[in-house]
Amino acid sequence: MVKRLKCPLCDGSDLKEIDIIKSTDIILLWKKRNINVSNLFRGNNFIFKYKCQICGLEFFNPFVSGENKFYSELGKEDLYYLHEDKTEFVYSSQYIKEGDRVLDIGCGCGAFVKYINKQVVYTGLELSSKAVELAQKENINVVKKTIEDFSKENKYSQDVVVTFQVLEHIADIDKFICSVILTLKQDGLFIIAVPNNKSFIRNAQNNLLNLPPHHLLHWDETSLQYIAKKYHLDIVDIYKEKVTNVHKTWYYSTQISNHIRSLLGMSTKSVNRAFFSKIIQIISSLLSRVAKYSSLHSKKDGHTIVIVLKKVSEHP
Ligand SMILES: [Zn+2]
Repeated sequence: MVKRLKCPLCDGSDLKEIDIIKSTDIILLWKKRNINVSNLFRGNNFIFKYKCQICGLEFFNPFVSGENKFYSELGKEDLYYLHEDKTEFVYSSQYIKEGDRVLDIGCGCGAFVKYINKQVVYTGLELSSKAVELAQKENINVVKKTIEDFSKENKYSQDVVVTFQVLEHIADIDKFICSVILTLKQDGLFIIAVPNNKSFIRNAQNNLLNLPPHHLLHWDETSLQYIAKKYHLDIVDIYKEKVTNVHKTWYYSTQISNHIRSLLGMSTKSVNRAFFSKIIQIISSLLSRVAKYSSLHSKKDGHTIVIVLKKVSEHP
């Protein structure tokens, strides 16, 4: 148990250390993708992962988060900003009504707007200049602004605020959520989609996109529900995506390697660069090519979880 450190969501200090990662291991894994993150980890030889025993949030400490250069290099791989064909887009669009004012935080190129088949007033907020430029070329209303700045100028103005695959990157959760609540109208909806830490992805070792400096927080149903409790919001619905066709090979290779490790009495770690672990990974990848023809995955929890919250009082 660690006493001094506090949970970024509930401010509690009942934290359990669940993993320790060598910064050099993360740096080496990124290096294979030709991205140099060593500057971001300067002064931090180890990154610790904690699970809050009160709200269930899992988070890394110290917070090592990406800077502009990191995201522009990552953007080049088209891994991050494409945001196309996500089930959360289809699911969330059902909550949007004709004439609604819709705010999309961390909208990338504004891909979500194509899923809203109604006349709405759409605003996207995005910090990547490249993504803003691409959106504006397509006449999508995307501006380079933080939610904190936007909310001060647009209080009680939005019917629906959506944020897809963003909350896992945010260091100051309280400031972010308070700003969203400020910009929402009474009875407005706040829709959050994040990677589901209770799904198979928690078993994926060396999953760089789910580690610092990319992701700082790991959410699940319990920690998302805690947001409603803390900020006095109503829970309208929770939607857990099942494993999609895009992720099925990854699902099977992750679950097979996790099974082999447990048979051998080995634990699953966030980062594992051991030779034997690589062998298990190769075997699992080969087996997943056969396993993907099964339909088992379609019944299992997939990458994303969505919560729909409603602002029921004027102040949090
Ligand atoms: Zn907590």
